[in-house]
Amino acid sequence: MNKITNHMPTEELQAIDAAHHMHPFTTNDELSQKGARIITRADGVTLTDSEGNKILDAMAGLWCVNIGYGRDELADVAARQMRELPYYNTFFMTTHVPGIALAQKLAELAPGDLNHVFFANGGSDANDTNIRMVRTYWAEKGQPERDVIISRWNAYHGSTIGGTSLGGMKGMHGQGSLPIPGIEFIDQPHWWAEGGDTDPEEFGLERARQLEAKILEVGQDKVAAFIAEPVQGAGGVIVAPDSYWPEIQRICDKYDILLIADEVICGFGRTGEWFGSEYYDIKPDIMTVAKGLSSGYAPIGASIVNDKVAKVLDACEFNHGYTYSGHPVACAVALENLRIMEEEGVVNHVKNVAGPYLAEKWHSLADHPMVGETKIVGLMASLALVPEKGSRAPFASDAGTIGFMTRERCFANNLIMRHVGDRMIIAPPLVITTEEIDVLIERARKSLDEAYENVKAAGLLVAAS
Ligand SMILES: *Cc1c(COP(=O)(O)O)cnc(C)c1O
Repeated sequence: MNKITNHMPTEELQAIDAAHHMHPFTTNDELSQKGARIITRADGVTLTDSEGNKILDAMAGLWCVNIGYGRDELADVAARQMRELPYYNTFFMTTHVPGIALAQKLAELAPGDLNHVFFANGGSDANDTNIRMVRTYWAEKGQPERDVIISRWNAYHGSTIGGTSLGGMKGMHGQGSLPIPGIEFIDQPHWWAEGGDTDPEEFGLERARQLEAKILEVGQDKVAAFIAEPVQGAGGVIVAPDSYWPEIQRICDKYDILLIADEVICGFGRTGEWFGSEYYDIKPDIMTVAKGLSSGYAPIGASIVNDKVAKVLDACEFNHGYTYSGHPVACAVALENLRIMEEEGVVNHVKNVAGPYLAEKWHSLADHPMVGETKIVGLMASLALVPEKGSRAPFASDAGTIGFMTRERCFANNLIMRHVGDRMIIAPPLVITTEEIDVLIERARKSLDEAYENVKAAGLLVAAS
C-alpha cells in the first residue's frame, strides 16, 4: 500500500479518495467527477489546500474551531495525555483526572445550577443521551407515559438515529424511516421565509405559542421536553424575533416541560456570551455541547444537566454510556482550549471587538442588489439571497440553486462561506481579527457580484410567482 502524504499529486489523492472514501452529506458520484478539495494545513483562520491556495475559513471548519487552527498548546497537551494515560473508561466505579477537571470546569462555566456533566463524543450522541435522560427522568418520577419530545421543523440536532429524529430536516427523516416514535414538531421562528404579512415580534409570539398548542394537543401528561438551538445554525443561522424565547420559557415553566438547549454551535462564545442560553436569558434543564468545547481539536460532546434532573437520574442506575465517554485525551484538549479561551478573553473579543465589527460590515452587504435581509448574532451570520430587492419573494428556481452558484464563487475566491438553500452563512473562528474580517467581507462582496452576474446571465434572476 502507498503511504499517503501531502506531497502526492492532488489528482492521485483525489482518485484514491473517490475510490474508497464515502463523504458525509455528499452525492459521492458527483464529487468523484469534480474531485474533493484536499486541505493539508491550517493556521489561525486560514486553510491551505494541496495546490497551495490560502483559504479564509469563515465557517471555522464545521462551526467548531473557535480558537483558530494551529495552537501548539493543544497538540502538546494531547501528546502529554497520550503518554500518561491514553485511555481509561469511567464506567465501573473509576474515573480520571482530565474527566474530573473538565466536568468541574463545565459546571463552573455553565449558567445557573447546570452542575452535572455526562460526556459523549460529539453533539449527535449527546442528544441521544438527552432523549434517554429526559424519558428516564419522568419514568423515575413515576410518569413513564411522559415521553414525547417536541422539536422544531428545520432544527439540526445531529445525524445519529436520535439526533436525526430530534432534528426537523425532512430530507434526513426520509432516509432510514425516521423520526423514531414520540417526537413532535412545531414550526420554526423564521420570519423572513415564513412570516408573511405578520409583524416580526407578533410572529415570534405566534411561533412560540405553537409549543403551548402542541403540549395541549399531545397532553401535558405526555410531554417530557422541548429541545431547540438558541440560534438555528445548520438550518440557516435563523435568529428568532426577540419576543420568541421569553414566551418559550414561560410555556416550559407553566407546563413543567424540561427545556433542552442545544448549544453545540452557540456554546463557548459564538454569541458573545459563553452560552446562547445566557444571550437569550433562558434557563435550560439540560444543555447539549460539543464543537467549540474542544475547538474541534478532539471529538468530544456532553450533556450538562441541572441539579433537578441530576438528582432524579443519580438515584437510579442510568444504563447508558459510550466507550469514549470522557475520553482522557479529548478532555485534556478541551480543558486546554477553555483555558486559552478564558486567559485570552476570547468571549469578550467576540462581544466587544470582532462581533460588533463584523456586524457593521455584514450589514453593509445589505446594499447589494441580490441581498435581502442580513442577520448576525455574535460571530454567526446569514444573509438571504433575493431576486427582487425590497421583496421577500424567493427565487423561481429550485431552492438552493442560487445559493450553490454563490458558494461556487466563494470557493473560487478562497472564502469558505456555506449556503443553506438560498441563504449564505458564516461562523468564523472566534479569534478572527478586524483585518481578517475586512478580507472576509471583500471576498464575500466579490463573490456576490460574480454570482449576481452569473445568475443574470443564466436568466435566473426571477422571483417565484
Ligand atoms: C453539529 C450539531 C450537532 C451534531 O454534532 P456532531 O458532533 O456532528 O454529532 C448537534 N446539534 C447542533 C445544534 C449542531 O450544530
